[in-house]
Amino acid sequence: MKKLDTLCVQAGYTPKSGDPRVVPIVQSTTFYYEKASELADLFDLKADGYFYTRLANPTVDALEKKLCALDGGTVAIATASGMSATLLAILNVCGAGDNVVASRAIYGGSYNLFSVTLPKYGIECRFFDPDDTKENIEKLVDDKTRVIFAETIANPTIVVLDFDKLADIAKRNKVLFMVDNTLVTPVLCRPLDFGANVVIYSSSKYLDGHAVALGGVIVDGGNFDFSATDRYQEFLVPDESYHGLVYSSLGKTAFGVKCRVQMMRDLGAIMSPENAFLTNLGMETLALRMERHSENARKVAEFLEKHPKVEWVKHASLENNPYHGLAMRYMPKGQGGMMSFGVAGGSKKAAEFMEKLEMIAIVTHVADSRSCVLHPASTTHRQLSSADLEAIGIKDNLIRLSVGIENVDDIIADIEQALASI
Ligand code: PLP
Repeated sequence: MKKLDTLCVQAGYTPKSGDPRVVPIVQSTTFYYEKASELADLFDLKADGYFYTRLANPTVDALEKKLCALDGGTVAIATASGMSATLLAILNVCGAGDNVVASRAIYGGSYNLFSVTLPKYGIECRFFDPDDTKENIEKLVDDKTRVIFAETIANPTIVVLDFDKLADIAKRNKVLFMVDNTLVTPVLCRPLDFGANVVIYSSSKYLDGHAVALGGVIVDGGNFDFSATDRYQEFLVPDESYHGLVYSSLGKTAFGVKCRVQMMRDLGAIMSPENAFLTNLGMETLALRMERHSENARKVAEFLEKHPKVEWVKHASLENNPYHGLAMRYMPKGQGGMMSFGVAGGSKKAAEFMEKLEMIAIVTHVADSRSCVLHPASTTHRQLSSADLEAIGIKDNLIRLSVGIENVDDIIADIEQALASI
């Protein structure tokens, strides 16, 4: 296999003689065939090809293949947003009466999906504290559990996932282990290497990297044997809505193919060709960017740690961070640009600090090339009660800082002047 930084540039698209060198935007909903039998073969999965952009499109396909190569998966599906990636991946294996066992330390939107929206459709979610013991977490798993869900590095609490602990529970119980790897990307950590079965991305973050294209990706690890358990009945019986296909018979592509031909067909949340083009372009520099984000963040964290107006700093690069050991095991090359810290003086001082920043902007986004800040308690997580915020570790003075790829001296200088003026 080629190295990851090479795959970021080269994987997913191999032009033939005379083809465009750069993956083109194929802006067409549909595709032309001379014979009806050619189309029939596509529908029957006897041939590879495109027939309708809701199911597959060459530009989107190039991005999907790049992610598959980077993560080491068998099938990838690019979606309209990170939220639709999570939703489709969950619905691919869950129905009314089933449950998901999820870490509390996840992105606020995913927490909301799991705690409010999915229960309306009969899917129960059971949350665990990621620092809890393996035994306690395993007690939440029963015969109706279909997914164990966590984030590699959680947004915004910066908890690092203990892969071994969760992979062990998932394996023993023959339950799918699904990991949102948005804030780390395959450049710094490949969840499939550590026991995950499905990887999720909000590609709107580091994969795009420039804050221009909303999107998500689901990667099937191809490492879950659906025929070895009776937990996933839908994979074992013919799908009458798809010519009686039995998904488990597809082996390593069962999850991914079902997700495309059934979930994408019915829910239709595919990524647009233009967003796939932009995301693919952004990904060419992903390896370089992740290196710089990680290095800048480490230096900013070291600066903040020593500052008298900062109460605490969370970034796994810091040796005294409780997750430093896990980070060194699972992502030794770097821990990305996301961090959080607490400004002395509570919520009021935190807001004041943000307003004094000159270069670092206040935006509802993270993980692009520009440094930015946010106060989650009053914005992204405002739908959560104080008790819920406390439970997921979001203090009222927490500032989420996404360290960009500008020169680190300028980032630190901006933070320094803002802290000096509060
Ligand atoms: N997962 C994580 C870790 C995120 O940070 C986000 C968005 O911030 C999402 C999923 C949702 O992605 P999107 O905004 O692309 O729907």
